[in-house]
Amino acid sequence: LAEPKPARAAAAKAGGNVVMGVTLSSPDKPLWPDDGHGAPVTKLELARYLEAVGPWMMRHIRGRPCSVIRTPDGIGGERFFQRHAGKGSSALISEVKVFGDHKPYLQVDRIEALAALAQIGAVEYHPWNCQPFQPEVPGRLVFDLDPDEDIPFERVIEAAKEVRERLEALGLVAFCKTTGGKGLHVVTPLKGGKGKIDWKTAKAFAQDVCIAVAADAPDRYVVNMAKKQRVGRIFLDYLRNDRMSTAVGPLSPRARPLAPVSFPLNWTQVKKGLDPKAWTIRTAPALLNKTKAWSDYCDAERPLADAIKRLKKS
Ligand code: ATP
Ligand code: MN
Repeated sequence: LAEPKPARAAAAKAGGNVVMGVTLSSPDKPLWPDDGHGAPVTKLELARYLEAVGPWMMRHIRGRPCSVIRTPDGIGGERFFQRHAGKGSSALISEVKVFGDHKPYLQVDRIEALAALAQIGAVEYHPWNCQPFQPEVPGRLVFDLDPDEDIPFERVIEAAKEVRERLEALGLVAFCKTTGGKGLHVVTPLKGGKGKIDWKTAKAFAQDVCIAVAADAPDRYVVNMAKKQRVGRIFLDYLRNDRMSTAVGPLSPRARPLAPVSFPLNWTQVKKGLDPKAWTIRTAPALLNKTKAWSDYCDAERPLADAIKRLKKS
């Protein structure tokens, strides 16, 4: 999946504003004003970042409708949360029709689409959690751990481990990633194929898991959306687990100060001292080359039906 040589040659010729064959307009446009060292992160650098981490990223976004957040004038400017392919968008970006909506959805099926999306200022990538190319079939569950303000990050780490323990007790395998924001995501891959589960069932399962975690420590966790109940607690958000719901994809940058990214972790890293700000557009490519995190993701798919049976028995 390395960049083909001709593309590199073309980039050199075109003055470096061609990435994966896509010509970028205003390559020097700052999208993040500060990379943490006082320099801006430009559109060209975003495209180069996506080129570097794209092969890894594609496994988690290919074949799923993918919403993007565009900040064409930088993260301080106007934001567009975009689900649908716009008129005149690049042929590199796939369009997919899903049940119940006549307008096609954006989809990233080839790595070059990431450069085409960088060209239109797409800084965040939020895929559906379906099986690839099966928008109706749950492909993973995402537990979004959202701490109230002033909650030390250690407590979010503790929450991630508790969710993991629950999932593994039910025969599922859990992975953790930073969000590039204030919380963590715990992800469990599901097996497709025979005995498929629908989203309604999958969402109810995710809710039950969160309720079980919160029941053990109601002073620390809450499963209810209501703001009041979230004060001083961590909100266990199971609502990412629906047909049209999204979660930010691993390695996606965030439209937040200092260009953080959502980064896949090993569970050994999920401990005191973990600093989610360590992973940025600048640092993530080299760190990704060094980590084996999530390398067993595909082998970790488990049938949700079995986990549901176990949960009912417990
Ligand atoms: P943090 O750790 O800071 O909470 P996060 O990615 O989990 O980061 P949330 O605000 O908790 O951010 O949102 C959870 C998910 O909801 C996002 O990852 C995203 O996929 C989805 N989301 C965010 N904004 C929108 C939006 N405007 N419309 C639809 N879905 C959104
Ligand atoms: Mn969150």
